Amino acid sequence: MHILLPGPTPVPQEVQQAMLTAMSDHRGSLFEVVRQRVQTNLAELFDAPSPNHIAIVPASGTGGLEAAVQNLFMPNQRVLAIETGLFGQRFSEVAEANGLNVTHVSVPWGEAFDLPSVMAHLKANHYQGILVTHNETSTGVVNPIEELARQIGQISQPPLIVVDSISGVPSIPLTLATAVDVIIAASQKGFMCPPGLAILALSDRAKEAVANSRPHRFYFDLRPYLSGHLPYTPAISLWYGLDRALMLLQAEGSEPRYLRHVLLRNLVRAWAEAGGWTPAVALPVASPTVTALRLPAGENPKHLRQRLESLGLQIAGGLGPWSSDVIRIGHVGAVNLGDLWAGLGLMSSLIPHPDDALRAAMQVMQNA
Ligand SMILES: *Cc1c(COP(=O)(O)O)cnc(C)c1O
Repeated sequence: MHILLPGPTPVPQEVQQAMLTAMSDHRGSLFEVVRQRVQTNLAELFDAPSPNHIAIVPASGTGGLEAAVQNLFMPNQRVLAIETGLFGQRFSEVAEANGLNVTHVSVPWGEAFDLPSVMAHLKANHYQGILVTHNETSTGVVNPIEELARQIGQISQPPLIVVDSISGVPSIPLTLATAVDVIIAASQKGFMCPPGLAILALSDRAKEAVANSRPHRFYFDLRPYLSGHLPYTPAISLWYGLDRALMLLQAEGSEPRYLRHVLLRNLVRAWAEAGGWTPAVALPVASPTVTALRLPAGENPKHLRQRLESLGLQIAGGLGPWSSDVIRIGHVGAVNLGDLWAGLGLMSSLIPHPDDALRAAMQVMQNA
């Protein structure tokens, strides 16, 4: 099956092979080399103060969000949650389920958050933390996290900035150098691995907050992780895969990787616009990793996706309020121009104006 999904994403052959490595003692010297190398490479990728500012816990991305909430905040503490779609809402739900006092900033679907109105909230009240999504996968919008961090840096007693970048990094660069406190990622998106590892990068300030004693954490207690110990049996095979994937990411480099994703986005948008499916968000906020497209009236996304699947291609459907007329095309992780081109070729059999779509796509390639 060919997949153009915003997770899980294609796993490169080298990563698959690394995951076949034989088991060994997760407290033994063979695995320890891998653990240290993975945390060192991630510390570099996130610009973290040390490898012991990286925690990798066995969970899907949502487990990473919960781990962050449980380790940084106490029940009843106030946090500001910026919701730009389904995943922002989920982050709020995680916080509420853990007893936090959540103030919601609800942004219309398809838009990025408005910086001045977020800052107005932060000036009007004191918050312990701010929960925000970097790349909102449900709408394909990328939020201005760096600008937010810059402005928050000017407040006295700034809240901890906790960023869900699960469908962002490492495809869309974001590091702790931009003055955010926690970045949460997951193995199955830009990291080109199967699902099962949540990755957290913490600033010094965030690590201090984790060290405070607090109720209601056990499995996701990050303290051992942040002192170089894996308290429970790690997902060893996934670690081997991530180790290899990090080498591939390093070989490509952050900026070329970002430009590759931007090119993929531009290709999808040009193809769709010319062909009769409308990008659901404006270009200035359009995500480099996932593109939501609105279908013409009368077209059913579910039928379209079924038809595509029968042709050998899976894409994602719309979520929440966008479920009845939107499809989402993921172009994240190991997806290259050839993979996307093949997918667009298949989808061209279903788009209203296939010739125009393909001509527009060709033009993007020629100008790349
Ligand atoms: C994929 C994703 C998640 C986590 O989903 P899981 O299914 O728990 O891995 C969270 N936030 C965003 C923005 C995502 O794209």
